[in-house]
Amino acid sequence: MRILITGGAGFLGSHLAEAWLDRGDEVTVLDPAADLKVRHLRANPRFRMIRESVLHRDILEGLVAWCDLVYHLAAVVGVEHYVGDPYQVLTVNINGTQEALTAAFRHQKKVVFSSTSEIYGRNPAVPFDENGDRVLGSTLIDRWCYATSKAAGEHLCFAFRRMGLPVVVLRYFNVYGPRLDQMDRGRVVTIFMGQLLRGEPLTVIGDGTQTRTFTYVDDAVRATVAAGLSPDAEGQAINVGSGEEVAIRDLAQRMVRIAGSPSRVIFVPQEAVYDRGYEDIPRRVPALRRMHELLSVRAEVPLDEGLSRTIEWFKRQ
Ligand code: UDP
Repeated sequence: MRILITGGAGFLGSHLAEAWLDRGDEVTVLDPAADLKVRHLRANPRFRMIRESVLHRDILEGLVAWCDLVYHLAAVVGVEHYVGDPYQVLTVNINGTQEALTAAFRHQKKVVFSSTSEIYGRNPAVPFDENGDRVLGSTLIDRWCYATSKAAGEHLCFAFRRMGLPVVVLRYFNVYGPRLDQMDRGRVVTIFMGQLLRGEPLTVIGDGTQTRTFTYVDDAVRATVAAGLSPDAEGQAINVGSGEEVAIRDLAQRMVRIAGSPSRVIFVPQEAVYDRGYEDIPRRVPALRRMHELLSVRAEVPLDEGLSRTIEWFKRQ
């Protein structure tokens, strides 16, 4: 098959590209970012990267016409962007999704859209069932612009679905692994990683009782490939995650233990890290029935094992 991955030079996209290449398929990545995360794929004749934005209509159109399946991953992701540049988040995530879907509709190509567990917001009813409510804060809190942009993307997907386009929406729950982000940047695992490897204290925000379920990237990729192949998944929103809920202070302690690092765990107030526009989510846990039944995929990598692989990878960098 010919696979187009918008945003394919990012963390998840680079692993997804690798998985399709391993299956023997052809992969084109459309991404304006540097090729750092896919450089190791460049020698493969079935791989190509086009360094352009998904908002470049002519190029997008040509690539959608070429492919058999579109993975639309292109998005601005990461809390520092939600609170730092909400305009960019909204523009790329909403307009980019509309462009991708419009092109796919014109050429009648199936789309797998990467959404997020963030869209459930701080709904207290965990685990989050796919039909569950979105509980978001005020638009004066910038954090919510990401959830809002992805929810708009989902609505666009389902609008195109009504017009007959095959679409699948995947809601990822804190995916992590090698190549996640630069150390000290992006998401909690990479922020802790930098601190850990320098032997500095790990900065847990608040009291650290807020929880997440982290998904090792290989598990997320197996679900993502299955979503592209399975007719049962079409028209659905599906959580992609694991059942292992962990408090952030426990995550910090585990990373210290696994790395054998002299780092301590300290607690810092929210304002010390994000000066404004931030609001934390107390618990985030997925309902997994759809992933298990529609995609026939279960998360297999326990958190300790995934953290150990990830720490090893960052140490080698
Ligand atoms: N977090 C933390 N210390 C940090 C960065 C993040 O304790 O230096 C916490 C953050 O408050 C949140 C969790 O880790 O509760 C996950 O944050 P992340 O930014 O990775 O993504 P989120 O799951 O909130 O979208």
